[in-house]
Amino acid sequence: MIERTGRCLCGAVTFTLVGEPLAVRVCWCRDCQHLAANGSVNAMVPAEALVVAGPLSEYIKQADSGNVVTRQFCPACGTQLFAQSSARPQFRMVRIGNLDDPSSLRPGMNIWAASAPGWACLDPALERVEQQPAPPPIHRSA
Ligand SMILES: [Zn+2]
Ligand SMILES: [Zn+2]
Repeated sequence: MIERTGRCLCGAVTFTLVGEPLAVRVCWCRDCQHLAANGSVNAMVPAEALVVAGPLSEYIKQADSGNVVTRQFCPACGTQLFAQSSARPQFRMVRIGNLDDPSSLRPGMNIWAASAPGWACLDPALERVEQQPAPPPIHRSA
């Protein structure tokens, strides 16, 4: 099964992502714009597919969807690494810019597109969802 590795900016936190993600999406919700100064690009993975080494700090906030989102970041350098929604505790979101090879995953959808700033470049070839998308179908690829 394919494995991808990644780390935070300072390297105190490293992680391994096992298998293919369930979905990869660009999120334009206002919270992600605060985190990323832009859209954030996230892989949704089964919680057990993510193996983390190193310390994580957490910030917990109610999202625009109404769900409570726990965001995890490196306590040393502040890099945003992972997120988990109260609505879907079986999944974790991985910020793919932290992968050692960020080109190894490609987003398939823009979500919360209605909140994107006027200057945002949204690939018209990708599916566009104005707000929260439906959860992806549960399947495990090899
Ligand atoms: Zn760090
Ligand atoms: Zn978002």
